[in-house]
Amino acid sequence: MLSDPVIQLKGVGDKFAGNLAEMNLHTVEDLLYYFPNRYDVFEIKPLSELIHEDKVTIEGRVVNEPSLTFYGKKKSRLTFNVEVENVAIKAVMFNRAFAKKQINAGDTITLTGKWDAHRLQITVNNYKKGPASEQTAIQPMYPLKGDVTNYKLKKTIQSAISEYGAEITEILPSYYLETYKLPERRSAVTTMHFPKNRIDLKHARRRFTYEEFLLFQLRMQLLRKIKREATEGNAQHYNVMQVQEFIDTFPFSLTNAQQKSLNQILADMKSPYRMNRLLQGDVGSGKTAVAAICLYAAITAGKQGALMVPTEILAEQHYQSLTELFGDKATIVLLTGSVKGKKRKEMTAAIDNHEVDIVIGTHALIQDDVFFDNLGFAIVDEQHRFGVKQRRTLRDKGLNPDVLFMTATPIPRTLAITAFGDMDVSVIDEMPSGRKEIETYWTKENTLDRVLGFIEKRVNQGEQAYVICPLIEESDKMDIQNAVDLFHQLQEFYSNSLKVGLMHGRLTADEKDEVMKQYAANEIQVLVSTTVVEVGVNVQNATIMVIYDAERFGLSQLHQLRGRVGRGNKQSYCILIADPKGEVGKERMRIMTETNNGFELSEQDLKLRGPGDFFGKKQSGLPDFKVADMIHDYRALETARQDAQEIIEKNLLEENSEFYQLRVNLENDTFLHDKLD
Ligand code: ADP
Ligand code: MG
Repeated sequence: MLSDPVIQLKGVGDKFAGNLAEMNLHTVEDLLYYFPNRYDVFEIKPLSELIHEDKVTIEGRVVNEPSLTFYGKKKSRLTFNVEVENVAIKAVMFNRAFAKKQINAGDTITLTGKWDAHRLQITVNNYKKGPASEQTAIQPMYPLKGDVTNYKLKKTIQSAISEYGAEITEILPSYYLETYKLPERRSAVTTMHFPKNRIDLKHARRRFTYEEFLLFQLRMQLLRKIKREATEGNAQHYNVMQVQEFIDTFPFSLTNAQQKSLNQILADMKSPYRMNRLLQGDVGSGKTAVAAICLYAAITAGKQGALMVPTEILAEQHYQSLTELFGDKATIVLLTGSVKGKKRKEMTAAIDNHEVDIVIGTHALIQDDVFFDNLGFAIVDEQHRFGVKQRRTLRDKGLNPDVLFMTATPIPRTLAITAFGDMDVSVIDEMPSGRKEIETYWTKENTLDRVLGFIEKRVNQGEQAYVICPLIEESDKMDIQNAVDLFHQLQEFYSNSLKVGLMHGRLTADEKDEVMKQYAANEIQVLVSTTVVEVGVNVQNATIMVIYDAERFGLSQLHQLRGRVGRGNKQSYCILIADPKGEVGKERMRIMTETNNGFELSEQDLKLRGPGDFFGKKQSGLPDFKVADMIHDYRALETARQDAQEIIEKNLLEENSEFYQLRVNLENDTFLHDKLD
């Protein structure tokens, strides 16, 4: 059986089995699916194309009997000449005295080793009598640990295939194999380990890429289905007329993308299943407006709403814009860490007895003393800043409330459908009309005087600027010092011609509040800040964003910061001050100056950083694919997703015997069980 321990294999003893166990290879099946992470390809090239000091493979005829010399204690050197393309090449082999007997004049031989183009000499590590066959041309190279060598592992896998290969069963229904012309599982396993040629290897990889994606997408779709069906009975009967009247009070009409997302959310609210939806949209695309409408819909259905955000500044900003939009149509409160004692008691009491319709707050909102009378709609803004537990705590404040996650960090589609495969996703991919594109420039520090002069000129025309200092950790004293120093520097530069303000994470909530109020009222014209202004801050009169040491930020973060300007109808500017050393850093700056589109930018970011780094390793929630690569194989991912959707919708796993093996595979899956609780 494939589940036999590896020790059952010929040539595997206790010690080697122990070594394999350290690599997490316990059963024969583990071995069979332990694929090489790369292949060494020994391709025979014309002599003229060989590169000095490269590892090369040549094929030729042995001209003379090898001569063997000994030196040192046990060292030996074997030399002979080989004729390749009518040229005599000298072959040198160290410490292989035994080869003298095997290599004879007149033999055809294939040699692999390091090439010395000046001496026309090859230092051989590997030789094979006879012409180079394709069989030896592609060598599997496995990821290794401890005492296990590539050679030994390869041999062991070879025996696993010959002893157990017949037991490998197909799990994909033949329809998919035929449609996508995929090799069947047994031969694909063999090819992954011992490819005969590149084309076979390509198809075997294609097969496992599809298989991995399909299984993954099936899990996600199953999860979505199970979660939905577990939360039946929360249909919100909102008042369509009232909702429309509310929209009509807005000073603008919704963009098509806003309308579409809104319709998707409202349909979820009406449905008996709990909504679990992600709303993505670039900064300023109008997510808050959509959120407000949904909150209002919930109110007309007799429910309460909650909006949780990661920072106090953001909470206040949302509070202001929502109270403005709602007027007297709803009672809204702001619940943050600064609401304490008696005030907090009064507020939580009002939430509990439904005098309050909407609560906007930070983490303060999910503390134990907060009870809702009837929470029907919960929104988590900048959801990636919260942990799974915090999101769940908010949800559990109601009885299966519909939950909307919002993010202004556009997530590339490939990642969205992998990391959030069990969610529904709405996208606002269109900006309100009339917005001017932000002009972005990249410059080095020696032009600082010009940049400051530019700021002064715009400020004299009534506009305002941000100057951002790099801050990687909010607690990093050094970085705060940077901001403080820059603040003093600018104060000096501008003497009394304009007012400079300072903002960083170490200020108390009251202090931050005061600074933001002054900035919003244009009492401060230039705000020096760390990245605390990154999310959501909305001062429409600000038109200049200067980012210091911009190479220290990722693309998404730069884009977020840039989104603080360009929020009104005036032309805005973003100036990146950076001197990146590496190519990737330079590429980032170039991309920033070339595009304002957050989705395009996030795709580029993903390519530069790779999927693991995109979210930050810890909470990525991304699966470890063995063969598949989300970035390069995104087309296969889309295909697998569509197929998985169809399989779940048509209930094929249960009803069609062709899908039996897939079902078995999913039932044994610990991932599903982990995710479900
Ligand atoms: P986001 O939350 O996506 O960053 P907001 O909802 O805060 O965006 O909207 C940014 C600004 O654009 C706000 O001042 C808002 O009033 C305005 N806005 C939103 N939707 C529209 C629209 N359809 N047309 C014009 N302006 C809009
Ligand atoms: Mg619902």
